[in-house]
Amino acid sequence: MKLYKTILLELKVIFSCGIYLFLPFMFLLVTGFFYINDTYSYIREVIAFGLFTAVLLVLVTVLNSLQTRKIIFGFLSIILVLLLFVKMSFYMFYGAKINASALFVIFETNTYEASEFLNSFINKEIIVLFFVLLLMLFFVLIKLFYTEKISMKLRLIPVLMFKHKLIKLFVFLLAIFSCYTIFTRFSNENVFLTSYTSHKDYILLKENLKNTLAQKESSYVANFLSSNEEQTYVVIIGESTSNSHMELYNYNRDTNPLLREIEDELYVFEDVISPHVHTIESLEKILTLSNYDSPNKKMNASIVQLANQSGFTTYWLSNQRPVGIYESIPTMIGNAASNRYFINSDDSIFNVYDEKLLPYLDKVLENTSEKKMIFIHLMGTHIGYDKRYPEKFEYFSGENEKTKYKHDKSEKLVNSYDNAIRYNDSIVREVIDKVKAKNTNSYVAYFSDHGDELYDTSDMVGHDMYNTTPSMYEVPFIVWMSEKHKLKHPEFLDKLKVVKRSYNLEDFIHSFSDLSGISFNEYDATRSVFNIQYQQRKRIIKDGVDYDKK
Ligand SMILES: [Zn+2]
Repeated sequence: MKLYKTILLELKVIFSCGIYLFLPFMFLLVTGFFYINDTYSYIREVIAFGLFTAVLLVLVTVLNSLQTRKIIFGFLSIILVLLLFVKMSFYMFYGAKINASALFVIFETNTYEASEFLNSFINKEIIVLFFVLLLMLFFVLIKLFYTEKISMKLRLIPVLMFKHKLIKLFVFLLAIFSCYTIFTRFSNENVFLTSYTSHKDYILLKENLKNTLAQKESSYVANFLSSNEEQTYVVIIGESTSNSHMELYNYNRDTNPLLREIEDELYVFEDVISPHVHTIESLEKILTLSNYDSPNKKMNASIVQLANQSGFTTYWLSNQRPVGIYESIPTMIGNAASNRYFINSDDSIFNVYDEKLLPYLDKVLENTSEKKMIFIHLMGTHIGYDKRYPEKFEYFSGENEKTKYKHDKSEKLVNSYDNAIRYNDSIVREVIDKVKAKNTNSYVAYFSDHGDELYDTSDMVGHDMYNTTPSMYEVPFIVWMSEKHKLKHPEFLDKLKVVKRSYNLEDFIHSFSDLSGISFNEYDATRSVFNIQYQQRKRIIKDGVDYDKK
Protein backbone atom coordinates (compact mmCIF):
# COMPACT_ATOMS: atom_id res chain seq x y z
CA MET A 1 0.00 0.00 0.00
CA LYS A 2 2.81 2.36 0.91
CA LEU A 3 4.62 1.62 -2.37
CA TYR A 4 1.50 2.35 -4.35
CA LYS A 5 1.05 5.66 -2.54
CA THR A 6 4.63 6.81 -3.20
CA ILE A 7 4.36 5.99 -6.89
CA LEU A 8 1.09 7.87 -7.11
CA LEU A 9 2.49 10.87 -5.29
CA GLU A 10 5.61 10.96 -7.44
CA LEU A 11 3.58 10.64 -10.64
CA LYS A 12 1.42 13.48 -9.39
CA VAL A 13 4.53 15.60 -8.92
CA ILE A 14 5.65 14.94 -12.48
CA PHE A 15 2.19 15.66 -13.77
CA SER A 16 1.75 18.94 -11.93
CA CYS A 17 5.15 20.12 -13.11
CA GLY A 18 4.43 18.91 -16.63
CA ILE A 19 1.08 20.54 -16.94
CA TYR A 20 2.69 23.98 -17.29
CA LEU A 21 5.22 22.78 -19.80
CA PHE A 22 2.49 21.01 -21.74
CA LEU A 23 0.38 24.17 -22.13
CA PRO A 24 1.76 24.89 -25.62
CA PHE A 25 1.06 21.28 -26.53
CA MET A 26 -2.55 21.64 -25.46
CA PHE A 27 -2.79 24.84 -27.45
CA LEU A 28 -1.59 22.95 -30.54
CA LEU A 29 -4.07 20.19 -29.84
CA VAL A 30 -6.96 22.67 -30.01
CA THR A 31 -5.89 25.24 -32.65
CA GLY A 32 -4.23 22.59 -34.82
CA PHE A 33 -7.57 20.85 -35.06
CA PHE A 34 -8.96 23.91 -36.83
CA TYR A 35 -5.96 25.06 -38.83
CA ILE A 36 -4.19 21.89 -39.94
CA ASN A 37 -6.28 20.74 -42.86
CA ASP A 38 -5.43 17.13 -43.15
CA THR A 39 -5.96 14.79 -40.21
CA TYR A 40 -2.82 12.73 -40.80
CA SER A 41 -0.59 15.83 -40.57
CA TYR A 42 -2.52 16.99 -37.53
CA ILE A 43 -1.93 13.71 -35.70
CA ARG A 44 1.76 13.71 -36.65
CA GLU A 45 2.21 17.29 -35.45
CA VAL A 46 0.49 16.55 -32.15
CA ILE A 47 2.55 13.41 -31.50
CA ALA A 48 5.81 15.08 -32.47
CA PHE A 49 5.17 18.13 -30.31
CA GLY A 50 4.07 15.94 -27.39
CA LEU A 51 7.21 13.83 -27.56
CA PHE A 52 9.43 16.88 -27.79
CA THR A 53 7.76 18.43 -24.74
CA ALA A 54 8.20 15.15 -22.86
CA VAL A 55 11.95 15.21 -23.50
CA LEU A 56 12.15 18.77 -22.21
CA LEU A 57 10.13 17.84 -19.15
CA VAL A 58 12.64 15.14 -18.26
CA LEU A 59 15.43 17.68 -18.70
CA VAL A 60 13.79 19.86 -16.05
CA THR A 61 13.14 17.10 -13.60
CA VAL A 62 16.64 15.64 -13.49
CA LEU A 63 18.26 18.84 -12.25
CA ASN A 64 18.99 19.22 -8.56
CA SER A 65 18.99 22.90 -7.70
CA LEU A 66 15.56 24.46 -7.55
CA GLN A 67 16.81 27.81 -8.88
CA THR A 68 18.49 26.22 -11.93
CA ARG A 69 15.41 24.13 -12.54
CA LYS A 70 13.22 27.21 -12.50
CA ILE A 71 15.45 29.05 -14.96
CA ILE A 72 15.66 26.05 -17.29
CA PHE A 73 11.92 25.55 -16.99
CA GLY A 74 11.29 29.17 -17.97
CA PHE A 75 13.76 28.99 -20.85
CA LEU A 76 12.23 25.79 -22.22
CA SER A 77 8.76 27.30 -22.00
CA ILE A 78 9.95 30.20 -24.15
CA ILE A 79 11.43 27.75 -26.70
CA LEU A 80 8.21 25.75 -26.89
CA VAL A 81 6.04 28.82 -27.33
CA LEU A 82 8.37 30.11 -30.05
CA LEU A 83 8.31 26.80 -31.89
CA LEU A 84 4.56 26.66 -31.62
CA PHE A 85 4.32 30.19 -33.00
CA VAL A 86 6.48 29.42 -36.04
CA LYS A 87 4.60 26.21 -36.71
CA MET A 88 1.08 27.58 -36.27
CA SER A 89 1.71 30.84 -38.13
CA PHE A 90 2.91 28.83 -41.13
CA TYR A 91 -0.19 26.70 -41.02
CA MET A 92 -2.40 29.76 -40.65
CA PHE A 93 -0.75 31.67 -43.47
CA TYR A 94 0.13 28.94 -45.94
CA GLY A 95 -1.96 25.99 -44.82
CA ALA A 96 1.29 23.99 -44.83
CA LYS A 97 4.12 23.15 -42.51
CA ILE A 98 7.47 24.91 -42.75
CA ASN A 99 9.71 22.77 -44.95
CA ALA A 100 13.24 22.54 -46.27
CA SER A 101 12.32 24.30 -49.50
CA ALA A 102 11.00 27.36 -47.66
CA LEU A 103 14.10 27.42 -45.47
CA PHE A 104 16.41 27.31 -48.53
CA VAL A 105 14.70 30.39 -49.89
CA ILE A 106 15.06 32.09 -46.50
CA PHE A 107 18.82 31.29 -46.31
CA GLU A 108 19.33 32.65 -49.81
CA THR A 109 17.28 35.80 -49.33
CA ASN A 110 18.76 39.13 -48.34
CA THR A 111 17.47 41.23 -45.49
CA TYR A 112 15.22 43.46 -47.57
CA GLU A 113 13.40 40.58 -49.14
CA ALA A 114 13.09 38.98 -45.72
CA SER A 115 11.45 42.08 -44.29
CA GLU A 116 9.23 42.27 -47.34
CA PHE A 117 8.26 38.66 -46.76
CA LEU A 118 7.47 39.40 -43.10
CA ASN A 119 5.33 42.37 -44.11
CA SER A 120 3.10 40.27 -46.27
CA PHE A 121 3.18 37.44 -43.75
CA ILE A 122 1.84 39.42 -40.80
CA ASN A 123 -1.94 39.40 -40.82
CA LYS A 124 -4.60 39.79 -38.12
CA GLU A 125 -4.80 36.10 -37.27
CA ILE A 126 -1.06 35.87 -36.79
CA ILE A 127 -0.99 38.95 -34.57
CA VAL A 128 -3.75 37.45 -32.42
CA LEU A 129 -1.84 34.17 -32.27
CA PHE A 130 1.27 36.04 -31.19
CA PHE A 131 -0.46 37.82 -28.31
CA VAL A 132 -2.34 34.76 -27.09
CA LEU A 133 0.91 32.82 -26.94
CA LEU A 134 2.65 35.73 -25.23
CA LEU A 135 -0.06 35.79 -22.57
CA MET A 136 0.29 32.07 -22.07
CA LEU A 137 4.02 32.46 -21.63
CA PHE A 138 3.57 35.25 -19.07
CA PHE A 139 1.13 33.12 -17.15
CA VAL A 140 3.62 30.25 -16.90
CA LEU A 141 6.55 32.51 -16.00
CA ILE A 142 4.59 34.34 -13.32
CA LYS A 143 3.40 31.05 -11.85
CA LEU A 144 6.96 29.84 -11.91
CA PHE A 145 8.73 32.80 -10.34
CA TYR A 146 6.18 34.78 -8.36
CA THR A 147 3.32 32.72 -7.03
CA GLU A 148 2.78 29.48 -5.22
CA LYS A 149 6.35 29.38 -4.09
CA ILE A 150 5.79 26.36 -1.92
CA SER A 151 3.66 24.27 -4.21
CA MET A 152 5.95 25.09 -7.13
CA LYS A 153 8.84 23.83 -5.09
CA LEU A 154 6.93 20.64 -4.53
CA ARG A 155 6.05 20.42 -8.17
CA LEU A 156 9.61 20.83 -9.14
CA ILE A 157 11.02 18.02 -7.00
CA PRO A 158 13.86 16.52 -9.02
CA VAL A 159 13.25 13.06 -10.23
CA LEU A 160 16.61 11.86 -8.99
CA MET A 161 15.42 12.44 -5.47
CA PHE A 162 12.44 10.22 -5.97
CA LYS A 163 12.49 7.27 -3.71
CA HIS A 164 11.26 4.73 -6.13
CA LYS A 165 13.52 3.27 -8.82
CA LEU A 166 10.57 2.37 -11.01
CA ILE A 167 9.68 6.03 -11.42
CA LYS A 168 13.25 6.97 -12.28
CA LEU A 169 13.36 4.19 -14.83
CA PHE A 170 10.04 5.26 -16.28
CA VAL A 171 11.17 8.87 -16.66
CA PHE A 172 14.43 7.95 -18.37
CA LEU A 173 12.83 5.42 -20.67
CA LEU A 174 10.27 8.02 -21.63
CA ALA A 175 13.04 10.45 -22.55
CA ILE A 176 15.02 7.92 -24.57
CA PHE A 177 11.94 6.63 -26.35
CA SER A 178 10.81 10.19 -27.21
CA CYS A 179 14.22 11.22 -28.54
CA TYR A 180 14.48 8.09 -30.63
CA THR A 181 11.01 8.49 -32.10
CA ILE A 182 11.54 12.17 -32.90
CA PHE A 183 14.78 11.46 -34.76
CA THR A 184 13.54 8.44 -36.66
CA ARG A 185 9.90 9.22 -37.36
CA PHE A 186 9.15 12.90 -36.79
CA SER A 187 12.21 14.88 -37.83
CA ASN A 188 10.15 16.78 -40.43
CA GLU A 189 7.74 18.00 -37.78
CA ASN A 190 10.52 19.36 -35.60
CA VAL A 191 11.41 22.88 -36.71
CA PHE A 192 14.86 22.66 -35.08
CA LEU A 193 15.77 19.45 -36.84
CA THR A 194 14.41 20.59 -40.22
CA SER A 195 16.28 23.89 -39.94
CA TYR A 196 19.46 22.16 -38.89
CA THR A 197 19.44 19.52 -41.63
CA SER A 198 18.36 21.87 -44.38
CA HIS A 199 21.00 24.41 -43.37
CA LYS A 200 23.58 21.64 -43.47
CA ASP A 201 22.32 20.57 -46.92
CA TYR A 202 22.39 24.18 -48.05
CA ILE A 203 26.03 24.68 -47.01
CA LEU A 204 26.94 21.39 -48.67
CA LEU A 205 25.18 22.44 -51.86
CA LYS A 206 27.09 25.74 -51.80
CA GLU A 207 30.39 23.92 -51.34
CA ASN A 208 29.52 21.66 -54.25
CA LEU A 209 28.62 24.62 -56.41
CA LYS A 210 31.86 26.38 -55.58
CA ASN A 211 33.82 23.32 -56.62
CA THR A 212 31.74 22.63 -59.71
CA LEU A 213 29.48 25.26 -61.25
CA ALA A 214 31.61 28.24 -60.23
CA GLN A 215 34.64 26.76 -62.03
CA LYS A 216 35.45 27.64 -65.65
CA GLU A 217 34.91 24.11 -66.85
CA SER A 218 32.80 21.19 -65.76
CA SER A 219 34.43 17.79 -65.68
CA TYR A 220 31.11 16.05 -66.25
CA VAL A 221 30.70 17.12 -69.85
CA ALA A 222 32.96 16.34 -72.80
CA ASN A 223 33.27 15.82 -76.57
CA PHE A 224 32.45 19.37 -77.55
CA LEU A 225 31.72 20.31 -81.13
CA SER A 226 31.27 23.93 -82.12
CA SER A 227 32.13 25.96 -85.21
CA ASN A 228 35.05 28.39 -84.99
CA GLU A 229 33.54 31.17 -87.03
CA GLU A 230 32.44 34.51 -85.65
CA GLN A 231 29.34 34.27 -83.47
CA THR A 232 27.73 36.69 -81.02
CA TYR A 233 25.08 35.18 -78.81
CA VAL A 234 23.13 36.83 -76.01
CA VAL A 235 21.02 35.19 -73.31
CA ILE A 236 18.91 37.58 -71.23
CA ILE A 237 17.73 36.23 -67.89
CA GLY A 238 14.69 38.21 -66.80
CA GLU A 239 13.27 38.57 -63.31
CA SER A 240 9.70 38.17 -62.03
CA THR A 241 8.13 38.89 -65.41
CA SER A 242 4.92 37.00 -66.05
CA ASN A 243 3.77 36.63 -69.63
CA SER A 244 0.21 37.28 -68.42
CA HIS A 245 1.04 41.01 -68.28
CA MET A 246 2.70 41.16 -71.68
CA GLU A 247 0.96 42.53 -74.72
CA LEU A 248 2.81 39.94 -76.85
CA TYR A 249 0.89 37.33 -74.87
CA ASN A 250 -2.49 39.02 -75.29
CA TYR A 251 -2.53 41.24 -72.22
CA ASN A 252 -5.03 44.05 -72.66
CA ARG A 253 -2.51 46.89 -72.12
CA ASP A 254 0.25 48.02 -74.48
CA THR A 255 3.13 46.79 -72.36
CA ASN A 256 5.25 45.68 -75.37
CA PRO A 257 5.18 48.56 -77.86
CA LEU A 258 8.78 48.05 -79.00
CA LEU A 259 8.92 44.27 -79.21
CA ARG A 260 5.59 44.26 -81.00
CA GLU A 261 7.12 46.46 -83.70
CA ILE A 262 9.49 43.63 -84.57
CA GLU A 263 7.15 40.78 -83.69
CA ASP A 264 7.56 39.06 -87.07
CA GLU A 265 11.29 38.78 -86.43
CA LEU A 266 10.71 37.05 -83.10
CA TYR A 267 9.99 33.54 -81.95
CA VAL A 268 7.44 34.21 -79.21
CA PHE A 269 6.95 30.85 -77.53
CA GLU A 270 3.35 30.69 -76.45
CA ASP A 271 3.31 28.08 -73.72
CA VAL A 272 6.45 28.09 -71.60
CA ILE A 273 6.69 27.66 -67.84
CA SER A 274 9.44 27.95 -65.24
CA PRO A 275 10.00 24.87 -63.04
CA HIS A 276 9.67 26.84 -59.76
CA VAL A 277 8.41 30.22 -58.60
CA HIS A 278 11.54 31.36 -56.75
CA THR A 279 14.71 32.64 -58.46
CA ILE A 280 17.24 30.27 -56.98
CA GLU A 281 15.32 27.04 -57.34
CA SER A 282 14.26 27.98 -60.82
CA LEU A 283 17.60 29.17 -62.18
CA GLU A 284 19.38 26.26 -60.62
CA LYS A 285 17.50 24.09 -63.10
CA ILE A 286 17.14 26.46 -66.05
CA LEU A 287 20.85 27.30 -66.26
CA THR A 288 22.22 23.81 -65.63
CA LEU A 289 21.83 20.19 -66.62
CA SER A 290 19.72 19.38 -63.60
CA ASN A 291 16.03 18.86 -64.09
CA TYR A 292 13.33 17.01 -62.22
CA ASP A 293 14.32 13.61 -63.68
CA SER A 294 17.95 14.02 -62.64
CA PRO A 295 18.41 16.60 -59.90
CA ASN A 296 22.02 15.70 -60.44
CA LYS A 297 23.56 18.35 -58.20
CA LYS A 298 27.09 17.00 -58.16
CA MET A 299 27.40 15.81 -61.76
CA ASN A 300 26.45 19.10 -63.27
CA ALA A 301 27.33 21.73 -65.83
CA SER A 302 25.93 25.17 -66.57
CA ILE A 303 25.31 27.01 -69.82
CA VAL A 304 28.25 29.27 -68.93
CA GLN A 305 30.59 26.29 -68.70
CA LEU A 306 29.29 24.80 -71.94
CA ALA A 307 30.10 28.08 -73.66
CA ASN A 308 33.58 28.17 -72.12
CA GLN A 309 34.27 24.60 -73.10
CA SER A 310 33.20 25.06 -76.69
CA GLY A 311 35.55 27.98 -77.26
CA PHE A 312 33.39 31.05 -76.60
CA THR A 313 34.63 34.05 -74.70
CA THR A 314 31.99 34.39 -71.99
CA TYR A 315 30.60 37.53 -70.36
CA TRP A 316 28.29 37.73 -67.37
CA LEU A 317 26.63 41.14 -66.98
CA SER A 318 24.45 41.31 -63.93
CA ASN A 319 22.28 44.02 -62.45
CA GLN A 320 21.44 41.89 -59.42
CA ARG A 321 23.41 42.40 -56.27
CA PRO A 322 25.81 39.48 -55.90
CA VAL A 323 25.75 39.13 -52.12
CA GLY A 324 22.98 37.72 -49.97
CA ILE A 325 23.66 36.09 -46.62
CA TYR A 326 25.73 33.73 -48.71
CA GLU A 327 26.64 34.13 -52.37
CA SER A 328 23.53 33.35 -54.34
CA ILE A 329 23.29 30.46 -56.80
CA PRO A 330 23.02 32.65 -59.95
CA THR A 331 26.16 34.50 -58.81
CA MET A 332 28.04 31.21 -58.50
CA ILE A 333 26.96 30.19 -61.98
CA GLY A 334 27.97 33.61 -63.32
CA ASN A 335 31.37 33.32 -61.69
CA ALA A 336 32.31 30.68 -64.27
CA ALA A 337 32.31 33.36 -67.00
CA SER A 338 35.71 34.62 -68.12
CA ASN A 339 34.51 38.25 -67.84
CA ARG A 340 32.19 39.28 -65.05
CA TYR A 341 30.47 42.59 -64.42
CA PHE A 342 28.30 42.80 -61.31
CA ILE A 343 27.38 46.42 -61.78
CA ASN A 344 24.85 46.82 -59.01
CA SER A 345 25.75 47.00 -55.35
CA ASP A 346 22.32 48.19 -54.24
CA ASP A 347 19.62 46.12 -52.71
CA SER A 348 16.29 45.83 -54.52
CA ILE A 349 14.89 48.37 -52.03
CA PHE A 350 16.57 51.11 -54.13
CA ASN A 351 15.91 52.38 -57.63
CA VAL A 352 17.70 49.92 -59.89
CA TYR A 353 17.33 50.46 -63.64
CA ASP A 354 18.45 47.90 -66.19
CA GLU A 355 19.56 50.55 -68.69
CA LYS A 356 22.78 50.77 -66.65
CA LEU A 357 23.76 47.45 -68.22
CA LEU A 358 23.69 48.79 -71.77
CA PRO A 359 27.02 50.66 -71.83
CA TYR A 360 28.70 47.43 -70.69
CA LEU A 361 27.01 45.56 -73.49
CA ASP A 362 28.28 48.19 -75.98
CA LYS A 363 31.81 47.65 -74.77
CA VAL A 364 31.55 43.89 -75.02
CA LEU A 365 30.04 44.08 -78.50
CA GLU A 366 32.79 46.38 -79.79
CA ASN A 367 35.14 43.52 -80.43
CA THR A 368 33.46 41.68 -83.29
CA SER A 369 36.20 39.27 -84.20
CA GLU A 370 35.58 36.45 -81.78
CA LYS A 371 33.08 33.87 -80.59
CA LYS A 372 31.16 35.69 -77.89
CA MET A 373 28.56 34.43 -75.44
CA ILE A 374 26.99 37.18 -73.37
CA PHE A 375 24.70 36.52 -70.41
CA ILE A 376 22.67 39.42 -69.07
CA HIS A 377 20.97 39.04 -65.70
CA LEU A 378 18.33 41.75 -65.37
CA MET A 379 16.72 43.23 -62.30
CA GLY A 380 13.67 43.03 -64.55
CA THR A 381 10.33 43.48 -62.84
CA HIS A 382 11.49 42.44 -59.38
CA ILE A 383 9.14 43.40 -56.56
CA GLY A 384 9.40 47.05 -55.58
CA TYR A 385 7.99 47.58 -59.10
CA ASP A 386 7.91 51.37 -58.93
CA LYS A 387 11.68 51.32 -58.37
CA ARG A 388 12.43 49.42 -61.59
CA TYR A 389 11.83 52.19 -64.14
CA PRO A 390 12.72 55.87 -64.49
CA GLU A 391 10.03 58.52 -64.20
CA LYS A 392 9.51 58.92 -67.94
CA PHE A 393 8.21 55.33 -68.05
CA GLU A 394 5.33 56.24 -65.75
CA TYR A 395 2.71 55.35 -68.33
CA PHE A 396 -0.29 53.45 -66.97
CA SER A 397 -2.80 54.94 -64.56
CA GLY A 398 -6.28 54.20 -63.35
CA GLU A 399 -7.89 50.85 -62.90
CA ASN A 400 -7.31 48.05 -65.40
CA GLU A 401 -10.60 46.33 -66.18
CA LYS A 402 -8.81 42.98 -66.44
CA THR A 403 -7.72 43.04 -62.77
CA LYS A 404 -9.93 40.61 -60.90
CA TYR A 405 -9.40 41.90 -57.37
CA LYS A 406 -9.93 45.62 -57.64
CA HIS A 407 -8.95 47.94 -54.78
CA ASP A 408 -6.58 50.90 -54.26
CA LYS A 409 -3.60 48.70 -53.55
CA SER A 410 -4.11 46.47 -56.58
CA GLU A 411 -4.64 49.48 -58.84
CA LYS A 412 -1.37 51.05 -57.75
CA LEU A 413 0.66 47.84 -57.95
CA VAL A 414 -0.77 46.68 -61.28
CA ASN A 415 0.09 50.07 -62.77
CA SER A 416 3.65 50.02 -61.51
CA TYR A 417 4.12 46.38 -62.57
CA ASP A 418 2.84 47.19 -66.05
CA ASN A 419 5.12 50.23 -66.24
CA ALA A 420 8.04 48.00 -65.23
CA ILE A 421 7.11 45.51 -67.96
CA ARG A 422 6.92 48.31 -70.51
CA TYR A 423 10.37 49.46 -69.42
CA ASN A 424 11.65 45.87 -69.60
CA ASP A 425 10.26 45.75 -73.15
CA SER A 426 12.46 48.72 -74.08
CA ILE A 427 15.55 47.06 -72.56
CA VAL A 428 15.08 43.76 -74.41
CA ARG A 429 14.41 45.65 -77.64
CA GLU A 430 17.52 47.75 -77.18
CA VAL A 431 19.68 44.67 -76.63
CA ILE A 432 18.27 43.16 -79.83
CA ASP A 433 18.91 46.39 -81.77
CA LYS A 434 22.51 46.57 -80.57
CA VAL A 435 23.20 42.97 -81.56
CA LYS A 436 21.38 43.37 -84.85
CA ALA A 437 23.53 46.40 -85.73
CA LYS A 438 26.61 44.14 -85.67
CA ASN A 439 25.12 42.22 -88.58
CA THR A 440 26.77 38.94 -87.69
CA ASN A 441 25.78 35.37 -86.92
CA SER A 442 23.82 36.04 -83.75
CA TYR A 443 20.75 35.48 -81.61
CA VAL A 444 19.19 37.03 -78.51
CA ALA A 445 17.18 34.73 -76.26
CA TYR A 446 15.08 36.16 -73.43
CA PHE A 447 13.13 34.42 -70.68
CA SER A 448 12.13 35.18 -67.11
CA ASP A 449 13.11 33.08 -64.08
CA HIS A 450 9.43 32.97 -62.98
CA GLY A 451 6.46 35.34 -62.94
CA ASP A 452 4.53 37.26 -60.31
CA GLU A 453 0.84 37.22 -59.43
CA LEU A 454 -0.92 40.59 -59.64
CA TYR A 455 -4.49 40.21 -58.47
CA ASP A 456 -5.53 38.29 -61.59
CA THR A 457 -6.40 34.90 -60.12
CA SER A 458 -5.66 35.50 -56.46
CA ASP A 459 -5.93 38.54 -54.22
CA MET A 460 -2.17 38.82 -53.78
CA VAL A 461 1.02 40.25 -55.20
CA GLY A 462 4.37 38.53 -55.89
CA HIS A 463 5.36 34.88 -55.89
CA ASP A 464 5.07 32.35 -53.14
CA MET A 465 5.65 28.60 -53.29
CA TYR A 466 2.70 27.82 -51.03
CA ASN A 467 0.09 29.78 -52.94
CA THR A 468 1.09 29.38 -56.55
CA THR A 469 -0.95 30.70 -59.47
CA PRO A 470 -0.47 30.28 -63.25
CA SER A 471 1.01 33.80 -63.49
CA MET A 472 3.93 32.70 -61.31
CA TYR A 473 4.84 29.89 -63.72
CA GLU A 474 3.90 31.24 -67.15
CA VAL A 475 6.86 33.20 -68.42
CA PRO A 476 7.91 34.88 -71.66
CA PHE A 477 10.39 32.99 -73.83
CA ILE A 478 11.35 35.04 -76.85
CA VAL A 479 14.14 34.51 -79.36
CA TRP A 480 15.44 36.82 -82.05
CA MET A 481 17.85 35.45 -84.68
CA SER A 482 19.91 37.32 -87.26
CA GLU A 483 19.45 36.46 -90.94
CA LYS A 484 22.93 34.93 -90.95
CA HIS A 485 22.01 32.72 -88.03
CA LYS A 486 18.78 31.59 -89.68
CA LEU A 487 20.74 30.61 -92.80
CA LYS A 488 23.02 28.44 -90.65
CA HIS A 489 20.05 26.74 -89.04
CA PRO A 490 17.43 26.05 -91.72
CA GLU A 491 15.88 23.49 -89.36
CA PHE A 492 14.71 26.34 -87.05
CA LEU A 493 12.66 28.01 -89.75
CA ASP A 494 9.36 26.36 -89.04
CA LYS A 495 8.57 29.09 -86.58
CA LEU A 496 4.80 28.69 -86.49
CA LYS A 497 5.21 25.11 -85.40
CA VAL A 498 7.91 25.40 -82.77
CA VAL A 499 6.43 28.39 -80.93
CA LYS A 500 3.32 26.36 -80.15
CA ARG A 501 5.27 23.66 -78.32
CA SER A 502 4.63 23.39 -74.58
CA TYR A 503 7.94 23.69 -72.82
CA ASN A 504 9.37 23.67 -69.33
CA LEU A 505 12.44 25.89 -69.03
CA GLU A 506 14.17 23.31 -66.85
CA ASP A 507 15.39 21.89 -70.20
CA PHE A 508 16.64 25.25 -71.46
CA ILE A 509 20.27 24.06 -71.51
CA HIS A 510 19.44 21.74 -74.45
CA SER A 511 17.63 24.47 -76.40
CA PHE A 512 20.53 26.78 -75.64
CA SER A 513 23.04 24.25 -77.01
CA ASP A 514 20.99 23.67 -80.13
CA LEU A 515 20.58 27.39 -80.70
CA SER A 516 24.30 28.01 -80.15
CA GLY A 517 25.41 25.12 -82.36
CA ILE A 518 27.11 23.38 -79.43
CA SER A 519 27.04 19.63 -79.11
CA PHE A 520 28.48 17.58 -76.25
CA ASN A 521 28.05 14.18 -74.61
CA GLU A 522 25.07 15.06 -72.40
CA TYR A 523 23.18 17.00 -75.07
CA ASP A 524 19.65 15.66 -75.59
CA ALA A 525 17.94 16.81 -78.80
CA THR A 526 14.57 15.58 -77.56
CA ARG A 527 14.71 18.30 -74.89
CA SER A 528 15.47 21.15 -77.32
CA VAL A 529 12.36 23.08 -78.25
CA PHE A 530 13.90 23.99 -81.64
CA ASN A 531 14.79 20.47 -82.64
CA ILE A 532 12.93 18.21 -85.03
CA GLN A 533 13.43 15.38 -82.53
CA TYR A 534 11.77 17.39 -79.74
CA GLN A 535 9.50 15.30 -77.53
CA GLN A 536 6.70 16.76 -75.48
CA ARG A 537 7.09 15.41 -71.95
CA LYS A 538 5.34 15.95 -68.64
CA ARG A 539 6.02 19.43 -67.35
CA ILE A 540 7.03 18.83 -63.75
CA ILE A 541 7.06 21.76 -61.35
CA LYS A 542 8.00 22.09 -57.68
CA ASP A 543 8.91 18.70 -56.30
CA GLY A 544 6.96 16.49 -58.65
CA VAL A 545 3.66 18.13 -59.56
CA ASP A 546 2.49 17.71 -63.17
CA TYR A 547 1.78 21.32 -64.21
CA ASP A 548 -0.72 20.39 -66.89
CA LYS A 549 -2.80 18.25 -64.53
CA LYS A 550 -2.65 20.58 -61.57
ZN1 LIG B 1 13.16 35.72 -59.39
